[in-house]
Amino acid sequence: MIDRRRSIATTIGHVRLGGDAPIVVQSMTNTDTADIDGTVEQVRALARAGSEIVRITVNSDEAAAAVPHIRERLDRAGEHVPLVGDFHFNGHKLLTTHPACAEALAKLRINPGNVGRGSKRDPQFAAMIEIACRHRKPVRIGVNWGSLDPELLTRMMDENNASPAPRSAQQVMRAAVVESCLQSAARARELGQPADAIVLSAKVSGVQDLIAIYRDLAARCEYPLHVGLTEAGMGSKGIVASTAGIGVLLQQGIGDTIRVSLTPQPGGDRTQEVIVAQEILQTMGLRSFVPMVIACPGCGRTTSTYFQKLAQDIQSHIRHRMPEWRQQFVGVEAMNVAVMGCVVNGPGESKHANIGISLPGTGERPVAPVYEDGEKTVTLKGERIAEEFQDLVEAYVARRYPRRTAV
Ligand code: SF4
Repeated sequence: MIDRRRSIATTIGHVRLGGDAPIVVQSMTNTDTADIDGTVEQVRALARAGSEIVRITVNSDEAAAAVPHIRERLDRAGEHVPLVGDFHFNGHKLLTTHPACAEALAKLRINPGNVGRGSKRDPQFAAMIEIACRHRKPVRIGVNWGSLDPELLTRMMDENNASPAPRSAQQVMRAAVVESCLQSAARARELGQPADAIVLSAKVSGVQDLIAIYRDLAARCEYPLHVGLTEAGMGSKGIVASTAGIGVLLQQGIGDTIRVSLTPQPGGDRTQEVIVAQEILQTMGLRSFVPMVIACPGCGRTTSTYFQKLAQDIQSHIRHRMPEWRQQFVGVEAMNVAVMGCVVNGPGESKHANIGISLPGTGERPVAPVYEDGEKTVTLKGERIAEEFQDLVEAYVARRYPRRTAV
């Protein structure tokens, strides 16, 4: 079993982070926060998809002024997902001018590399921490190597060059990212921010850098850690890179909350990043969100696309039914459903699932045995196999999972 307890836990709105709390899925909007309607709609979509915390950009007076209205509209709609404000260069000004914005947010994200240069850095960082203290808000000190404090990096590079055994530039960069996190957290503590109101992140875009940096960070502090690859990219590259980096860290017990930073296709669905984050946690056996469909890849034994379509239909049916199932049945999110293409592995895999179907491959008898809890219960045939299997899944859920009692 992976031991992932951190000695420090914090609370973001109603969501507990760190300690022995479950790993939390979070996401970020890509709407203009000043567009209240558009942002409310996207936050609701992300929350409905399963995002437990949603971050929004706060980059202008208009955006800061919109935040309390967004919170109010969400609450009125019964959506209480905690909102995190993402602040950069002008965060100290916006939070000072718009105290209602600070009050409406559940956490402030501060990038110590983007809070002013030279002599302005410390006062601007301090102003943001003082506002967090005044409003009793946790902060995420979110270092990003794309905006790493240049003075810190230059100093560490100079020290490295002068040392008798200099490290590589990449090693120094990794060390500088970790130092920026730890020094900023120490400064926040000096300014009065409680230890149990600090979360750290150190985002980079390379998988090996991510793993090395978070291992170092986890060994050197007890703050809850927000893990994710920054600028992961589009499509399968973004998903694979994020899964590789986050997966290795989670397996080592590192990470209290994750975000998968995917670049959507133009006009694409922002909720994909939530689904991928959930699937990472669920396939690793760390949390369960939605029943999993196990499907074989198909091969020369399946010359039709029938079983691919059935797997897709069942997956859509489960996602569609899940909000209602979750309200009605205890534990249904851990269910496994197998949809297999032929007799080679079909019966075996189906027996391991809660409910599974083994479709006929090319040249096999046109029958589809169904297995429930390891036993063959019925054999389907004819034109309505898909509909009948869907009905069997519904009946299985109703029979197998206890009904929630009303409170
Ligand atoms: S279960 Fe059958 S159809 Fe599916 S990949 Fe294996 S051999 Fe091919």
